Order: sequence, then structure tokens, then C-alpha cells
Amino acid sequence: MNYAVVRELKRLRALERGGVDKQPAECTIALIYPSPYYVGMSSMGFQLVYGLLNTLPGVRCERGFFIPWSQTYTLESLRPLRSFDCVGFSLSCEQDYFNVVEILRRAGIPLASRERDERHPLILGGGVCAWLNPEPLADIFDLFVLGEAEAVSAKLFERIMAGGKGGRVRLLRALAEIPGVYVPRLYEPRYGGEGQLLAVEGIESGIPAPERQWVGELDGWPALAPIVTPETDFGDRAIVELMRGCGRQCRFCVADYAYRAPRLRSRNAIMDAASRALSLGSGVALLGPSLTDHPDLEEVGDEIVRSGGRISVSSVRAGQVSERLLAILARGGLRSLTIAPETPSERLQRRLNKEIHARDLMRVAEGAAAVGLRDLKLYYLIGIEGETETEMEAIAQSVRAVSSLIHVRVSVGPLIPKARTPLQWAGMQGEGELRRKYRLLKKSIDKIPMARMSNQSIREAMTEATLARGDRTLVHHLALGRLPRAVVERYALRARGGEELFPWEHIGIGVNRKYLWAEYQKYIRGEMTSPCAPGKCDACGVCALPGGR
Ligand code: SF4
Repeated sequence: MNYAVVRELKRLRALERGGVDKQPAECTIALIYPSPYYVGMSSMGFQLVYGLLNTLPGVRCERGFFIPWSQTYTLESLRPLRSFDCVGFSLSCEQDYFNVVEILRRAGIPLASRERDERHPLILGGGVCAWLNPEPLADIFDLFVLGEAEAVSAKLFERIMAGGKGGRVRLLRALAEIPGVYVPRLYEPRYGGEGQLLAVEGIESGIPAPERQWVGELDGWPALAPIVTPETDFGDRAIVELMRGCGRQCRFCVADYAYRAPRLRSRNAIMDAASRALSLGSGVALLGPSLTDHPDLEEVGDEIVRSGGRISVSSVRAGQVSERLLAILARGGLRSLTIAPETPSERLQRRLNKEIHARDLMRVAEGAAAVGLRDLKLYYLIGIEGETETEMEAIAQSVRAVSSLIHVRVSVGPLIPKARTPLQWAGMQGEGELRRKYRLLKKSIDKIPMARMSNQSIREAMTEATLARGDRTLVHHLALGRLPRAVVERYALRARGGEELFPWEHIGIGVNRKYLWAEYQKYIRGEMTSPCAPGKCDACGVCALPGGR
């Protein structure tokens, strides 16, 4: 192994606090985040799964990351991936798919699932991309975990460890019987003469329909990420999960549709996790997709800060940020607050189903400046249906107004239509138009003394959009390491017809197509939908299912 890699992995390990130290076990899994260490260790899901797998009897889980200049070795024992029984990839970003291919290649593991046998590790995929749309990776992975690891892992690893006669094909057939396990090679897509998808069906009778699984109550499962390291977005703060799902129904947002129904952790469970973080001598990063919807956020934050802990939060909703919350965050050492207004245009806000009022944004900016925060980070989207140059000027005006009160860091990205959201039918705006809008914005925002703008790469956004709604034919391009223009046009830019069957629809995640289509029509018309009301609603279909499958 390259000495520079050993030195770097040992350096990263030495910076870590907490963690799990498990002795040799019956089944070993290398859990890989297919991006560099910093990105992977900032992922709450990756950390929680690492902790969870190490609680399973007989299972030892180690971590690995994409190393741009080397093959991947695990952090804990510096072993190559081929020496593990299983290699599990955490898939939360489509752009990482190229790194998945590269990691397997460098490890000397055949890329195609069908070319591997008992001499090779089982290749598992989990994370939100696994149940949004795993199809571009279907020929590579032996299986995907659909949904929350807490609901599937124990049965999955029990069955893997039980092994049995008949080799890998028999084992995969048996694993496919576990709810939440999807073995793609047991399903086959059928295409029509013009390349249109007609169906994805089991290769023989009796193959179960794959369905996402989730836990009903979060409180029975750890809320605290097991490792603290300064090499993350959160510095010396331990990650604590407050909630899953959102329920605000923003039409572009996978954090809402992919994690339904919305669930909150109790104040006691959060404080228990926070106390353990404080006992490690670290601060606390409170994370969740719609944090300010948690009724105990202020109380929890206050208690942590009164115990001497530093605190940070993920993005907050402007209309729900009180003066008290700002004061608590400032006392807890927060320097920068993140808000995603997406667009200042009320007309476009109705399309997205996300209303952030200008007066709320100004109130938060004023309050943030008053308690001594350094800046606000504001996220905006471009490429929304019906958007014009007027909206670009409105973004600049909004930034100008906020920056009269506090420094602003503006981050702009294109709207990327994702599978499983109402926008799964929408075409993404073309590259030329998006670039023109970036230029307009940059020209205006660069003139504002207290603001600076960054933007997501359009190429990367196009790659993400293509893979997010791709099918199995894309594996060929993944293996070659690039997506041709015609492929981007077909999968990212093309609006889908109402009748078109999607490559991911044989996998059930609970939210029904009719509901998503109705929401898409409201996007076109610019009509709002109320937030989720679990227990009082069966609109999308999730809450009618047995809770926490
Ligand atoms: S059924 Fe209603 S409350 Fe439940 S997740 Fe769907 S929209 Fe939200």
C-alpha cells in the first residue's frame, strides 16, 4: 500500500473521537462513502449506519472513502475492499456513481454483479438514491437496501451469515425475500420498439415486489452519530438527528417525499444524545430537514448551551426563527445561519409549494445581525417553470436588501427534477439558459458590497439530473466515465408525458403516482398544498400503510 495513503488514513483516524471498537466477527462489511472523507463523515446517515451495523451480533463494520489518488482501504484496519465479506456503498448523491465504479475497479472487483462469485464480496447499496431510483446502478450492485437501515439490517445480516448451499445466486434469491431488500438481477426491464419502457418484471413467478421499509418511531434508535472529528462541516460538533421526513411538501424536495411519513424524536431522546456528545467534550450539530418544525428545538438548544455546549443547526425556515432561537444559537457559538428562500417570487414560490416571505427574511437578517452572527447563507434555485429575467432581478434585489443588514453568502443552483417527487415529469432547463441566468445574477450580485455569490456547476447538475431519472442502459456510460450529450438530453432535459412509465416504479416507496401527478399539475398551475398532517390524512398513501414497516 502507498505510504502516503497509510499516513493520511492514520492522520484522519487520530483526529477522531468516539467510535466503535469491535473485535473480529463472523461477517465483515466495508461501508464506503464514495466521496472523500470530509464529505462522508459530514453525512449523518453514513455515520448512523456505521454505528448501527456495529451493534449487530457477529458483524464488524469498517469505513472507507473515495481516495482520488489510490484504491480504497478501510480506516480501521487499513485493509483493501476485496478482503471483506460485504462492501456496502452509501448512495446519497448521483454524482458519486462514477466514484463507485472507480472504487470497484481499483479494488480489482468485477463491475458487473453477474461476473462476481463467492470469491468476491457482496456489493450492497443503501442511502436515499437506492430507493429513489437505483436503476442506473442495477447491473453493478448485488442488492439494494430500500429505506431505513434500522428496519432492514438485522434480518439482512442474519440471512447473509446463515449462508447456505447453492452459491451466490441462491443466496441472493433468499435475500430478496426480506422486506426492503431489492436484488436487481431478479427483475428485467422490457422496452418497446422506440425504446420506451413497457414494464420491469420479475424474471420468474414468485419474485416479491420490492418495497421501501422505515421505522415508525425514531426514539428506539440512536440519534447520535458515533464519531466526532474536526474534518467535517460541523467541526468539533457531534451530529444529533432530530427528525426524518419533512411534510412541508416542497415539490422539488427528496427529503420530503423519500422519507415519508415525517417523524420527530422526543425531547428526552435528543437530550440524551446531546448529553453523550457533551460528555465527549464536543459541541452538538442539530440536524433535520425542517428543523424549525420541531417544537422542542429552542428548549433543546437552550439546555445544550446552558450546559456549556457549542451548537449549530442545519438550514432553518425564516418564518419560524424567533429572536430567542437566534440568541440561543449565538450564545452557542453559531456564526452563520442558513436559509433556503429558493426564490423571492411569490408566483414561483406557489409553484414550488414553498412560501418564504420577504418580511420574515428581513426580520431574521435583522435579528441575526443584532445577536452578532457573521453572515446569512441564502440558497436560491433557478430554472423554475415560468421563470423570467424579472425573477433574476428579484433575487438580486432581495440579496441587496438583506445585505444592508448583514453579510450574505448567496448559493445558486439549478432546479433538478428528481424521481419520486412531483417534478419527476418535468424537463430540466437547458444549459445555455441556465448559464445566461447565472451571468445575469453574478453581474448584479457582484456589485453588492456585502454579498458574494457561488453557484453549482451546471455540468455537475446535468449529470445529477441524468442519473436521477436514468435507467439500466446508463451503466455503459458510467463504466466509460462520461454521459454523452444525447443521453443528457433524453434523461435530464426531456419533459415526460403523463402516461410514461418510469424505470423506478416497480419499487414501491409508499407515495402513489396519482398523488404526485396531482401535485405536478399544481406546480404547473402555481397552486399551494398544505403541509402533511399525519394521523389526519391519507392523501399520498403513506400513512394508510401499516406504520413503520
Ligand atoms: S398521507 Fe398525508 S400526512 Fe401522511 S405522509 Fe402522505 S401527505 Fe403526509
